[in-house]
Amino acid sequence: MTVYVDGRIGEGGGQVLRTSLSLSAITGKELIIEHIRGKRKKPGLRRQHLVSVKAAAAVCKARVTGDELNSERLIFKPGIIHPGNYYFSIGTAGSCCLVLQTILPILFYGYSSSTVIVEGGTHNPMAPTVDFIVNSFLPTIARFGFHASVELLSYGFYPAGGGKIKAKIRPYQNAARKVEIISRGELIEKKGNILLSRLPEHIAEREKKTLLETGWLRDNEIEIIHVKNSPGPGNVVTVTLRYEDISCVFQSIGKRGKKAEKVAIEAYRAAISHHESKMPVENHLTDQLLIYLGLVSEGVILTSELSLHSRTNVEVIEKFLPVKFKVTEMTGGWQINCKKLTFHPINSDFWS
Ligand code: ATP
Repeated sequence: MTVYVDGRIGEGGGQVLRTSLSLSAITGKELIIEHIRGKRKKPGLRRQHLVSVKAAAAVCKARVTGDELNSERLIFKPGIIHPGNYYFSIGTAGSCCLVLQTILPILFYGYSSSTVIVEGGTHNPMAPTVDFIVNSFLPTIARFGFHASVELLSYGFYPAGGGKIKAKIRPYQNAARKVEIISRGELIEKKGNILLSRLPEHIAEREKKTLLETGWLRDNEIEIIHVKNSPGPGNVVTVTLRYEDISCVFQSIGKRGKKAEKVAIEAYRAAISHHESKMPVENHLTDQLLIYLGLVSEGVILTSELSLHSRTNVEVIEKFLPVKFKVTEMTGGWQINCKKLTFHPINSDFWS
């Protein structure tokens, strides 16, 4: 069976490609994707996306046509998933975590454990950082039987890169009959982390001062981490909210021309806005969890925000898996349900 994906749907970026690759490999369905990243200024496969394609192909021994830089069309014929030891290098500061996002679901369906090393950026704008993966994403999917660990071997910031992560992935045990995240419990810890690499100390101090001025974080809840040995400059402010049932990570990445105060306030605002929603899952975690909801094929999550990324992922997942999502707005956010399709939903009372 072949699944055709138009890379311009919804968000029209790299995530359409990554979700399609993961699900093609897991289901064994051939993927033909056209207009890859069709809504981006420079469409087609950039280095990070090309490495995701190569990595997905390597772990399931796929035959691929169109796996070249700038390619806007890809044919991906998956083979059998091969767990093992893998090493991928992006060669630029492209996000290691997004390459991992592509192959992680695939390797969960291998018959034994895998170890994967990825080199590139570890703390990139517009991508999950390693802190997000380690402190929020992995503990959340572990609740549903998907167990992996990620170790940060070296930091890599955009644009210099030079980062490295090591992931260990265990086979999925079919532990969960349902993915359910409907509560978060009490807030038990809040933390602010400021990463600084090869930049003047006053940047971190001003960020700390800004976080303190919010009145929300205390001095002993904020840590400045001086990154040694990364080849380039970097600055990231992360606010982590640890609730009884879930941890949420909010990050803001510094860049030339962006004031330190703005970097700090962005991370704080994202955190406080989520906290006030009273919802368990935040925006970015939501789009990254959907594939696992689809794979477990039964579930419900409550989220504070429903991004176009999430809506797009729903569309892509429904192309590959026999599941149907339903999104309902509610006070403070959205409820996302996923159900297994046991019969064709047209003209049925499936959702009544
Ligand atoms: P493109 O260059 O085509 O936009 P991309 O491959 O770099 O593509 P997207 O398709 O936009 O990226 O996907 C970005 C992914 O990174 C999404 O899963 C999104 O949730 C995640 N992400 C972006 N910002 C954050 C953040 N602040 N925290 C956690 N995850 C994030």
